[in-house]
Amino acid sequence: MSFSLDEQIKAVEKWQNCEFVHPLVCGNNFNHSLLVPKRRYAADYHGEFTDNPDWISLVCTDCNYEQDYIPEYVFGLTYVNLEKIEEILNSLKKKSNDK
Ligand SMILES: [Zn+2]
Repeated sequence: MSFSLDEQIKAVEKWQNCEFVHPLVCGNNFNHSLLVPKRRYAADYHGEFTDNPDWISLVCTDCNYEQDYIPEYVFGLTYVNLEKIEEILNSLKKKSNDK
């Protein structure tokens, strides 16, 4: 996976804000707030001189549930132009209202 950490955060935010997909939810309770991407610093876990890279975790702000991977399908959405889809849907709605 060749996405930078910033790009990973953006990809997760896009997924979580998209009304056409099922959002990423807490592993403890799916009624909790949607998971949010948080940068984790390897140095905090492995010491200052670690070679381990930082990563993005998905965190539940209600119960601190955390998963340290982002499902691959989330990145598929980064290539989708949601504004365009919304534009098309709105024009279809308008057409059916005009009838
Ligand atoms: Zn939770």
